Amino acid sequence: MPLPKAELHVHIEGTLEPELAFALARRNGVELPFADTEELRRAYDFEDLQSFLDLYYALMAVLRTEDDFAELTDAYLARAAAQGVRHAEIFFDPQAHTVRGVPIATVIEGLARALDDSERRHGVSTRLIMCFLRDQSAAFALETLQAARPHLHRITGIGLDSAEVGHPPAKFREVYEAAGALGLRKVAHAGEEGPASYITEALDVLGVERVDHGLRCLEDTDLVERLVRERIPLTLCPLSNVRLRAVDVLEDHPLPRMMDAGLLCTVNSDDPAYFGGYVGDTFHAVREALGLDEERLRELARNSFTASFLEDDEERRARLIAEVDAYDFATELQE
Ligand SMILES: [Zn+2]
Repeated sequence: MPLPKAELHVHIEGTLEPELAFALARRNGVELPFADTEELRRAYDFEDLQSFLDLYYALMAVLRTEDDFAELTDAYLARAAAQGVRHAEIFFDPQAHTVRGVPIATVIEGLARALDDSERRHGVSTRLIMCFLRDQSAAFALETLQAARPHLHRITGIGLDSAEVGHPPAKFREVYEAAGALGLRKVAHAGEEGPASYITEALDVLGVERVDHGLRCLEDTDLVERLVRERIPLTLCPLSNVRLRAVDVLEDHPLPRMMDAGLLCTVNSDDPAYFGGYVGDTFHAVREALGLDEERLRELARNSFTASFLEDDEERRARLIAEVDAYDFATELQE
């Protein structure tokens, strides 16, 4: 039985496996610029965030119908559940679909169909977080929030993702204020490729409750102290950091240093189909590469539930944390 955990940083579009991409391309009559899944996998050798994003957006062309979004989401939940995920807060990028002519209703209702069945089918509770593309305009983000209004009962919070450098959080002040007034929770990617000052800005200007990545907080000791003091969770994605060259090799990842500093760290997969593993694989990888002992792994798992948006189900949160506390690592490899 794997260690129970929550996943708080996963882009549903980033769970699109090459096999499903080709199957959906055939079904929808979409031409992919790759001969087969092998050729596609070879394209996964990224230089940086932008080179990944180029492929990521190109492959999304295969996602067209509600069924496509439901199938994608159900496939993720099945894989995540097999690796011990009991709660998932899932990002999606509506603008990447609406610009291709796919209505936002198709996207949200397709995702929601899989999420509605998730507890019964996979034992995974879920929340949906709608992300805005920061390399698009602030006006487009506001328009997207408006377009999502009829579906807000499906959505727990908003986030900010895509190319970070040159697109500071403050650009999206207005849409974060509007979302806050609608009762939505707030997170944002910050300090992945962008500077530590973007993390401070996301906290002060956007009012985020959780920082996605946040790796570069280490460049500002006052900021680290503040994140520790205010118990602001960071959703770290170590495999993503290596694949997108934010750190050279996993053995150099600052995760242990960040935990030593008292930061509320969680470990997540980001875009697992592209970065070499789902969240259970990520736990295994950091354990091996960074020499984390069982108590450190338990701390990461506990943090994942502490940092989750389970405020409307504190009983579930407490039960899951109790399972982590009682977890016997000797059962890890047993079915
Ligand atoms: Zn991300």
